[in-house]
Amino acid sequence: MVDVIGDHEPLKLEEALEVILGSVSVLPVEVIALRDSLDRVLARDIHASCDLPPFDNSAMDGYAVIAEDTKGASHENPCELTVIASEPAGVVIDNFVSHGSAVRIMTGAPMPAGADAVVMVEETERSGDGVLICGEVACGENARRAGEDVRQGELVLDRGMRIGPAEMAMLAALGEAEVEVYRKPRVAVLTTGNETVDVTQSPGPGQIRDSNQYSLLAQARRAGAEVTVLERVGDNPDDLKSAIRRAVGVSDVIVTSGGVSVGDFDLVKDILASLGDVRFWCVAIKPGKPLAFGYIDGQPFFGLPGNPASVMVAFDVFVRPALVKIAGAQPVWHTLVSGSISQDLRHKAGRREFVRAITVWYGSGYVASTTGNQGAARLSSMLRANSYIVIPEGMGDVKAGERVDILLMH
Ligand code: AMP
Ligand code: MG
Repeated sequence: MVDVIGDHEPLKLEEALEVILGSVSVLPVEVIALRDSLDRVLARDIHASCDLPPFDNSAMDGYAVIAEDTKGASHENPCELTVIASEPAGVVIDNFVSHGSAVRIMTGAPMPAGADAVVMVEETERSGDGVLICGEVACGENARRAGEDVRQGELVLDRGMRIGPAEMAMLAALGEAEVEVYRKPRVAVLTTGNETVDVTQSPGPGQIRDSNQYSLLAQARRAGAEVTVLERVGDNPDDLKSAIRRAVGVSDVIVTSGGVSVGDFDLVKDILASLGDVRFWCVAIKPGKPLAFGYIDGQPFFGLPGNPASVMVAFDVFVRPALVKIAGAQPVWHTLVSGSISQDLRHKAGRREFVRAITVWYGSGYVASTTGNQGAARLSSMLRANSYIVIPEGMGDVKAGERVDILLMH
């Protein structure tokens, strides 16, 4: 076994994150169809292959004119122009707009040669072959210039960006029918605990349903990962060992829940030590102090605590950033903001505490309220939480109205 950090006292949060993030590497690249790329991470910078819009065009339904011709025009004193053609979107006409003439034009149609502005239809009145212009326009008004949105060659999307609806639309506009993305991280979720039963079973005396399987499944998916193994294993070391061995080949990251506290005789930590390297197994955070991290065949392994709230916090704080990093995405950390708290909070100095909270923006800043009892086994106070109030190790009780760091989760 290599040097285990924090063997005697719990590791500080930053040190733990440094160990984790310092040693995980980015996954390989694959090419997929644009339509399948939602929430994937771009593996290549995208420089615009063309101008957007690609040509000068009308921003309005109306009449393409020479702006100078509309000088002084008003409802009381309109000017009349001769309509020489009509141009829908998708059509290019070869008419030339000269003084005294206009082209009926639809939104998105190319600006005809000679015209330098568009009078919107609401400011006009048709009269036979002519049109009455009832208002002035300035040169360039209601016209979109080629390249005003994006210039050909410009860096538009960066490697590491997650593809959302807007990114997909931009890639489509630029003709990127296929995109290079990082492969999705594959996560193996193994839950331990002889007392746990599957959701489809009725718990017997002393038994509870395995909820961690579902929190971890959902959290992994939400972090952009694919869950390739989802298995409940008893507290039998041999079963757990073989489940872990099976998971190694078909996942990039292994996550277990339970069996890392002293009451379990360090089941998970010892198995990790026998199959790979333990890097640390205890972090000074609350909830979720016992947390084994290490490697099996070069693959990151997280032994998370069993308590339903602890496991979720530990995932958010440690596993999610690791998954985001191996997925090639930026930023790896949730958004940290400064805000105030709406009620007094008790805190015993020593560990960094993550208090689940509902944070709202009140116009003058963020205000966080806790979701109720913060017991490590309380799932009910994970509900509705959109954030964690982060109380530093060195701090004591916190008073209502005091400023705190808030980690926004969604
Ligand atoms: P452990 O870390 O294994 O000692 O578990 C700590 C607490 O979490 C115990 O009360 C367990 O019953 C509970 N627990 C462990 N695993 C699960 C699970 N998969 N789903 C729900 N609760 C669990
Ligand atoms: Mg257990």
